[in-house]
Amino acid sequence: MHPDVVVIGAGALGLSTALHCALFGRTVVVVERDTAGSQASGRAAGLFKSVQADELRTTLARRSIARAVSIDDWAGVSLKVARSGSFLVARTGEHQAHLRAEAGRSRQWGADVAEAGRAELARRVSYYRGDASELALWCPEDVYIEEPMALVWALVAACRRHGVELAESEAVTGIVLSGGQVTGVETARRSIATTAVVDAAGAWTRQVAELAGEPAAVAPVRHQLLITEPATDLDRVQPIVRVVDAAVYLRPARGGLMFGGFEADPLPVDPRSRPATFRTADLPLDLSVLRKMSAQVAAQAPLAGELPVAEHRGGMFTMTPDGRFIAGPVPDAPGLWVASGCNGSGFSSSLAIGEALAGWICDMPGGLDIGALSPARFGPVTDEALITAGVWQYAHYYDPA
Ligand SMILES: Cc1cc2nc3c(=O)[nH]c(=O)nc-3n(C[C@H](O)[C@H](O)[C@H](O)COP(=O)(O)OP(=O)(O)OC[C@H]3O[C@@H](n4cnc5c(N)ncnc54)[C@H](O)[C@@H]3O)c2cc1C
Repeated sequence: MHPDVVVIGAGALGLSTALHCALFGRTVVVVERDTAGSQASGRAAGLFKSVQADELRTTLARRSIARAVSIDDWAGVSLKVARSGSFLVARTGEHQAHLRAEAGRSRQWGADVAEAGRAELARRVSYYRGDASELALWCPEDVYIEEPMALVWALVAACRRHGVELAESEAVTGIVLSGGQVTGVETARRSIATTAVVDAAGAWTRQVAELAGEPAAVAPVRHQLLITEPATDLDRVQPIVRVVDAAVYLRPARGGLMFGGFEADPLPVDPRSRPATFRTADLPLDLSVLRKMSAQVAAQAPLAGELPVAEHRGGMFTMTPDGRFIAGPVPDAPGLWVASGCNGSGFSSSLAIGEALAGWICDMPGGLDIGALSPARFGPVTDEALITAGVWQYAHYYDPA
């Protein structure tokens, strides 16, 4: 078997890259150690956010929204997307100035963002009580996917429809190089010859890159959310609310409320120092982190802290030193590509990242230039520096400036 491309990892980033390579006419095998979506992708909050810190990320985020709502047209599969819109809320003067500046930049980059009055927020959202001292921005383009596995299953269905082989329960154990050039992968079951290998192994990106003797500047950091038991008036699509000064987000979920956030001192996790069997399900969770954050918005969103918890879940973000994705060729190992460094937005940007990266791998003209996301931009980074920078990026998810 000699596929044109082998993708390692069947999360949102790997599946999207594989699908787009297939749409560009390549033969593709996805090798997944567990099952598709079983790690970070299946645990995502499902939020898409059009307001981003730079122009390229804004373009990727908006392109992904457009691709998600039209996936039936270009991939032939269905996906339910809640076209909710979102509010960005700031309660402190400092964060209001930050949001106003961000809105101005985002508009220049094409995003639809407008200041919203208190009455508009109250009219659209039942679970958040704003007051006149707050600034709220209305972002009508934003959407969410109720259950994250819906996107994974849509991508799996589209992959199969377009001829991608998805091999689950098969771990990649080696990357084969000849004269410095990638010539294939070894799995627990077989050898697969290929000239293009994509490392989309999520929190395990570094281990997989190290199979080729290459570094990858990715620091996994724990992220958690909860979903409450159902409550009155939450059983309908309503906008997402992100309170940037508290670094938290909320949306309706399963008739209750989803609540998640970004603590200032998150838990870095290095799967390389854990047993080989370590998976996301083994990650210890800590509800007190979410309880402290929900207390910060208790006056505005009391249900987040008051309703019984129906689900508490978490997983690992793959943070990078500059808070941007890693997507592109590994310079010292021709044929090895990386699709990682999600920085908490890999689920929602996967459709555009996969499209752009596949265009690069397949040498397709006219695609979005994502050269700025190349792994080559990082020189040698020590583990300590990587974790410090990754933790900083995580803690500043909503105010990276
Ligand atoms: C609680 C939570 C909420 C989140 N909310 C959002 C959100 O609202 N919006 C958003 O955009 N993002 C969100 N994210 C981030 C998002 O989930 C990730 O950015 C995205 O899922 C990353 O996809 P991935 O394909 O890189 O990783 P993963 O989904 O983790 O996939 C990587 C795959 O690689 C496989 N693998 C690893 N090693 C090997 C090997 N040796 N051989 C074969 N396969 C291997 C793994 O089994 C895994 O399935 C959230 C994350 C968490 C944890």
